[in-house]
Amino acid sequence: MKPEQLTMTEGPMEDSTSEFVLRLRATERPADPLVSCLVPAFNEEGNILPMLETLHTLMKDLHLRHELIVVDDGSSDATVERVMSVIDRLPVTLVQLSRNFGKEVALTAGIAEARGDLAVLIDCDFQHPPELIPSFIEQWRLGYDMVYAVRADRNDETLLKRAFTYVFYGLLNFGERNKIPENTQDFRVLDRCLLEALNSMPERNRFMKGLYNWVGFTRRAMRVRTDPRRHGTSSFNFISLLKLAATALTAFSNMPLRLWTVIGGVVSLSSIAYALYIVVETLLFGNNTSGWPTIVVAITFLGGVQLLSVGILGEYIGRIFTEVKQRPAYFVSRVTRSSTTLPHDGDTR
Ligand code: UDP
Ligand code: MG
Repeated sequence: MKPEQLTMTEGPMEDSTSEFVLRLRATERPADPLVSCLVPAFNEEGNILPMLETLHTLMKDLHLRHELIVVDDGSSDATVERVMSVIDRLPVTLVQLSRNFGKEVALTAGIAEARGDLAVLIDCDFQHPPELIPSFIEQWRLGYDMVYAVRADRNDETLLKRAFTYVFYGLLNFGERNKIPENTQDFRVLDRCLLEALNSMPERNRFMKGLYNWVGFTRRAMRVRTDPRRHGTSSFNFISLLKLAATALTAFSNMPLRLWTVIGGVVSLSSIAYALYIVVETLLFGNNTSGWPTIVVAITFLGGVQLLSVGILGEYIGRIFTEVKQRPAYFVSRVTRSSTTLPHDGDTR
């Protein structure tokens, strides 16, 4: 499907990249690229085969050499069995993680495995419409190193989740020059240069949307609709989203730390002003030792503020602790490659 054939709510969004830079990048695109389709899967027994078949058909129709990388993120259902049942028919590489590490890590493991000139990242549950992939790849050919989906709307989400997302991005991007765009999805096309850049980033606290944004390169947003999940249920609940938000904030923003300098300054200045007021009041009207409520309020307020700031410090120290331990971000228990898999041994067109 060409971008102009997409509906009004779908397609490329405004862009400020220099045309000259784009033309340069476009000339560097290989004529016969290898595409790595990357699907993270956690308990996706109902979706995984239809998704692999869809991707394979799509790539064949586009006459593109391709590999289908499935990262099994410690599924406890028949996901692995289903993938193994087609491994000799489809060009699949199955990467099994040693346990469930979460989607961000599963994507990291898949990116490390990808051999392609470009990678297509897509969820297993058909929430990202696969038929839009050709228009994404078209943008890649035009010179964009990253083509990423932005939700056309968030109507499928609760008001609470939408409010939470709004506050989250507000905090995350406050005062930042390189803002992380709102409403983006993991549905994207990444050029080899981005794959290499992401592979070179060793951090364990991985918030992929932040990392994609941090590395830079030419990029284009595509507005897309989000479909309902085909089979099964989402693995993300409110608590896991809160955890991801904490990872994102501590990994990409020092704002929560800096905030306390400002609050400390305001509280100190206010207390000096209040002290002056008491001196003046005592000189003018005497002192009848009132002010008991003021003391209680001040103590409890400051106690709360201090505990909160210590908590935020603790959150950052916890992250530093995770980083200094230098554990690998994940372990792979098994990699199974289809005998038809590229890039080393033949063509799957
Ligand atoms: N996923 C994963 N590991 C997890 C949770 C999810 O690899 O711990 C995969 C899942 O199989 C799917 C994608 O990440 O392909 C998105 O997950 P889900 O649909 O549960 O999230 P939502 O769409 O609700 O954000
Ligand atoms: Mg989903």
